[in-house]
Amino acid sequence: MKIAVIGAGIIGVSIAAEAAARGADVTLIDKNAPGSGTSSTTYAWVNSNGKEPVGYYELNLAGLEAHHRLAGTGADWFRPTGHIELAATPEHANELQRRLERLGQFRYEATGISSSTASELIPDLIVPEDCAAVAYFPNEAHCYPALYIRHQLQRAKHLGAHLRIGAAVESFEETTEGVNVILSHGNSVLVDQVMSAVGRWKNDITAAAGLGSVVTEYQEPGDVTVGYLAVTNPLPVAIDRILTSPKLNIRPAGGGRLLLQALDLDATATADAVPAIDSDLAREFIHRLQEVLKNTGNAHITELHVGVRAIPADGRSVIGSVPSRPWLYLVATHSGVTLAPFLGSAVVAEVFDEPEPLFDEFRPTRPWDATPARSWRHPASPGSNNAQRSPSPGAAPSLPAFSSTAWARPLWPTRRALLQQFHRGTARLGFMRSTRRH
Ligand SMILES: Cc1cc2nc3c(=O)[nH]c(=O)nc-3n(C[C@H](O)[C@H](O)[C@H](O)COP(=O)(O)OP(=O)(O)OC[C@H]3O[C@@H](n4cnc5c(N)ncnc54)[C@H](O)[C@@H]3O)c2cc1C
Repeated sequence: MKIAVIGAGIIGVSIAAEAAARGADVTLIDKNAPGSGTSSTTYAWVNSNGKEPVGYYELNLAGLEAHHRLAGTGADWFRPTGHIELAATPEHANELQRRLERLGQFRYEATGISSSTASELIPDLIVPEDCAAVAYFPNEAHCYPALYIRHQLQRAKHLGAHLRIGAAVESFEETTEGVNVILSHGNSVLVDQVMSAVGRWKNDITAAAGLGSVVTEYQEPGDVTVGYLAVTNPLPVAIDRILTSPKLNIRPAGGGRLLLQALDLDATATADAVPAIDSDLAREFIHRLQEVLKNTGNAHITELHVGVRAIPADGRSVIGSVPSRPWLYLVATHSGVTLAPFLGSAVVAEVFDEPEPLFDEFRPTRPWDATPARSWRHPASPGSNNAQRSPSPGAAPSLPAFSSTAWARPLWPTRRALLQQFHRGTARLGFMRSTRRH
């Protein structure tokens, strides 16, 4: 089978490597350098903590487990050192307690700990005087996406995948031999199957296939699509795990540097401008850091980024084939770092006609464009009424609550049946044969 994978972010390289491992003839296409999209501006916390509804929790748990399996006894991209969460208000402590009980029912490793145990696990932690509760999630991890992507790219190349870097996919053309993926500069690749893993650019690909939008576009400062990330200079700080607290989330960023995130500060984030590293925002990050960790007197911000999330319009992942385009498989999701290794193997298994039940409630057969991002805000503080769920720095903040029964079960014909129809010319095709955009 000939497969084109569009997008060499953390999800696309996972799909390309798995497809090549199963013997497919793979072409991995990216308009820019591999790993230069959202995968380069992410907090990269690997977890299934506070993810709802149950189907999304299970999906993320499968991602967390797949990371542990892939990394085995050691991998330079994966640090399975756990996560400590500090609660500062009674509301947050109550919410944390409820979450621990809920996660306990699912046998997810999560436990309340004393502040002295927290100080043993993070020796330079300054436990706040108003600390109301502390929890430890030992199986959670942080990832170095660039190193993960390097690993999967090398793997894909060794397994024979072809790379088309610097080539943008512009349109698709159906032929009797398969689908022609039309690239910039007039090139094309003829394949049986197209896997779209272009993250926040998903709407370009669906438009090129004559379909509507999938991911919500940035609309205004502080909406759910955008979030700040700050990186410090190298510091002699003893911390080797994720720390989340009401004021600041902190994780190692390699070489003694720290990666910082503060969801309430995201209220001013815009998709088109990044504050300077000596801005008030940068100073606020440092001020908060010095309140939480010792040995940070010399800290300053060396990089500030605005990460742009790929969030499907109704807040829920989109994973699966498009029934009217049986050759097109879409993956559009938040938490892509957590999900990448599981998506890689399970998405490719579906192409080989092995349906993945965990994807059933995320199919692209549901109505799109359900909820505009404008109505979603970042939680101002954990446990407060405007925070619809816990302050999970890796998760999209304040997505609208959604029920796993909100969508009817999609009709899910097998891929083989759809592809056979397609090649016989009997599949219903609702768009013009050539959809090249100008
Ligand atoms: C602030 C922030 C914090 C986050 N924190 C976490 C976290 O803690 N844990 C977690 O699991 N997830 C987190 N995420 C989400 C996670 O980072 C993303 O889900 C993930 O990186 C997306 O990977 P991707 O491969 O789908 O997309 P990308 O990395 O964006 O890759 C898409 C690629 O497609 C290419 N492309 C686009 N259009 C075309 C085209 N027409 N032709 C060819 N190539 C094209 C782009 O050049 C790009 O390289 C966070 C995101 C943000 C913004």
